[in-house]
Amino acid sequence: MDVASPSAAGLRTFYDGLFQAYGPQRWWPTQDADNPRFEILIGAVLTQHTAWTNVEIAIAQLRDAGPLTAESLLAHADLPALIRRAGPHNVKAKRLRALCEWFVARGGFEALAGMDTPTLRGELLALHGIGHETADVILLYAFGRPSFVADAYAFRIMERYGWSAGARNYERLRKRVEAVGPVDDAPFYDELHALIVAHAKQRCHKSWPDCRACALQARCAQRGVNAVR
Ligand code: SF4
Repeated sequence: MDVASPSAAGLRTFYDGLFQAYGPQRWWPTQDADNPRFEILIGAVLTQHTAWTNVEIAIAQLRDAGPLTAESLLAHADLPALIRRAGPHNVKAKRLRALCEWFVARGGFEALAGMDTPTLRGELLALHGIGHETADVILLYAFGRPSFVADAYAFRIMERYGWSAGARNYERLRKRVEAVGPVDDAPFYDELHALIVAHAKQRCHKSWPDCRACALQARCAQRGVNAVR
């Protein structure tokens, strides 16, 4: 099956359309002004298959229990109880411990800043419970690396737009977008991901997308869309 790929100009038009519709999204939301990057690191795990409101509660409980650092989290014998609101707490506690142990062993943000992005992505993907989407969220928002988060919302919108078809393949879509996206421009990918999430929630719904009011309608192929609002 032929699969159209975005061009650099096409991706910019797509981004501009969403930006004009929704404005700056100012991601990633954090509570801890002292250590926001570490909060993003653990928030990326806590938010797996869980509503953000529950993640905020879990992070607030962690903050009440001690400083939001890898060392502090590893010292919590009751870590599963502290994050109970964020879904399967035993599973996520195990994932958080693996992430924190790696973070400490690698010397924290300062030491990891010297690691190139492919190596850093590979190390994250080798950790227990870290898949492609979580790895790219961490790379982008915690490490400021230009990475495209090819999540389910991105697939839905880009498939409909005409940029992806056939079997979904995370790495293929990520690389297609990064191949034409601006080089070394993490703020672009930061905003792009947040805008895609906003668009998926406000217009390009899973069922009955609101195409008549969509900022992308003039260029969207509406592939696979059978009914609109
Ligand atoms: S025109 Fe419809 S299908 Fe295309 S991006 Fe907009 S809401 Fe989604």
